[in-house]
Amino acid sequence: MSIETPPRPTYDPTSPISPAACADGAGQLTGLFFSDDLDDIGKAKRICATCPVMVSCLETAIADGEQWGVWGGQLFVSGKVVLTKRRRGRPPKEARPGDQLPLIPVPEHLVDQLTFA
Ligand code: SF4
Repeated sequence: MSIETPPRPTYDPTSPISPAACADGAGQLTGLFFSDDLDDIGKAKRICATCPVMVSCLETAIADGEQWGVWGGQLFVSGKVVLTKRRRGRPPKEARPGDQLPLIPVPEHLVDQLTFA
């Protein structure tokens, strides 16, 4: 299943306000980006999909060797990008909403720089 993502707003480098979609000024969203919960990870990835600095965020995560969390729309686990993840426990007979992570395409120039799990 592919999830349609809205177009990202353009980034105004002259603005004093952080353009990052995850920057709420209070750190309230941080837990979503470092959670093991599939619903949280899906929410984080959907926030990234609206972020005007998503590509540069992913470039920085790669350069910094990030090991864990959602960066630039991708889930990193032990430094590898994980595209699909199952909930803990026995899979349900019928898929539940949120069982599949949003698929955010990796920019072509970064594909070779990532290791996929
Ligand atoms: S792409 Fe990076 S800066 Fe943007 S919302 Fe995701 S984690 Fe935050």
